[in-house]
Amino acid sequence: MPKFFVDPHIIFVVLDRYYNFMSKQKTNEFRSPRGTHDILPEEERLWDKIRQEAKEISGFYGFGRIDTPHFEHTELFTLGTGSVTDIVTKQMYSFRTRGGDQLTLRPEGTPPIMRAFFEHGMFNLPQPVKLYYIGQFFRHESPQRGRFREFNQWGLELIGEDSPVADAQVIQIFFVFLREVGVKNAILEVNSTGCQICRPRYRSELVAYYRPRLKGLCKDCKDRSRQNPLRLLDCKEEKCQIVRRGAPETLDHLCDNCKNHLKLLLEFLDEVSIPYLLNPYLVRGLDYYTRTVFEIFVGEEEKEKPKEVSVDSQKRGEENPVKEENEAPPESLTSKRLALGGGGRYDNLAEILGGKTVPAVGGALGIERIILALKAQGYKVSEPAKPKTFFVQLGELARKKSLPLIEELRKARVSVAESLGRDSIKSQLNIADKVGAEYALILGQKEALDGTIILREMSSGIQEAVPQEKFIDFLKKKLKK
Ligand code: AMP
Repeated sequence: MPKFFVDPHIIFVVLDRYYNFMSKQKTNEFRSPRGTHDILPEEERLWDKIRQEAKEISGFYGFGRIDTPHFEHTELFTLGTGSVTDIVTKQMYSFRTRGGDQLTLRPEGTPPIMRAFFEHGMFNLPQPVKLYYIGQFFRHESPQRGRFREFNQWGLELIGEDSPVADAQVIQIFFVFLREVGVKNAILEVNSTGCQICRPRYRSELVAYYRPRLKGLCKDCKDRSRQNPLRLLDCKEEKCQIVRRGAPETLDHLCDNCKNHLKLLLEFLDEVSIPYLLNPYLVRGLDYYTRTVFEIFVGEEEKEKPKEVSVDSQKRGEENPVKEENEAPPESLTSKRLALGGGGRYDNLAEILGGKTVPAVGGALGIERIILALKAQGYKVSEPAKPKTFFVQLGELARKKSLPLIEELRKARVSVAESLGRDSIKSQLNIADKVGAEYALILGQKEALDGTIILREMSSGIQEAVPQEKFIDFLKKKLKK
């Protein structure tokens, strides 16, 4: 029987086109493009809460906000992120402008920030420079639950510090944030991918291990074995994970400096009581990582709650632990989990982009994933705040006067709702009742002419007319009671 092989990428492209075609045929309406989503007002309340918390925590820890453009020169990512990474080879939205520039919608935040660091001479500032960002990123991925083509991240970059205390602080800030917004049972996985001294040796051992086993790997891994062997370790295909079980581990090949860096990082994490799991297979796909890499997960179901794992002191780099061939990976590495964020140290990126050696560490949390985790854990979006007052108008003159009076309420920070298009007083009072206003402010033809306004307490129905020039003070006193 002849075997036919169809490139999964082709299947993906065909299905994508079919989906786009069918969604237009069926509805004859516009839909948001595949992999994108709208955030509607009631959902925005949760988004605001998350962004606000991220801003406050970043600010407290001394991170300044930076916004870089949504698109950059493509080369920034091919050089910075790495030309053999999945992001660059498969996921970038790139285009050529009429002027001939080759640009790309930013797939990640770190290279643009390092670009800005050099462009604005931030290497002359006292180091480290701490920056944070919140914004949209774009990757042409196959959409699924929690995976979008346009998504939002909150990211931290701590540039100009090589001490592991910086790595620990970035991780700590993410955990503080998760606790503050209410995400439960987050678990941290860490690894060290070594440095320019110890990694080449490890890479050759890895290649030597995989060379006789290439047949059992997926097509991507066969390519990776040539281009980016470290990535063999984080393939999600089952058959590749089976081969991986006997592979040499980075932790056994770290040089003394890298061992010490990792050991100190773990001690700092102990200090702030962040439980972690050393995952020897965590490499995180990008070329620029050196030493620390980390990822933060939550279990999708209660029963998948991760165990708190303390690290065997041998694994902290003192000695090489004995590893059985085909030893099963730890339970929490195989269960169904949601990745909330990740990051690591990137001591070589500055050299690549700016020609200077500047150690740095950073990471990002996916905001859509945080929201997904919160909802899965039963978080309820809060009700919008009730307006204190409702403005009721009757007649054309009153309707005209309502606009400046409502502006006075805004200036005085008194919340007000209205339904200015309506004529009937009854229907307006009904709405005032429904939205839960404490007072209705009624302006009829007579009040518009004699410069007064009626304050009606909604709970009792008691009304009194007050001069318009005094109504704000009067109202504020009433609302205070
Ligand atoms: P990365 O930039 O790949 O390290 O991703 C950091 C975090 O961003 C991930 O752990 C996810 O929470 C989030 N993220 C990455 N890619 C996507 C995507 N396509 N859709 C939604 N969230 C994403």
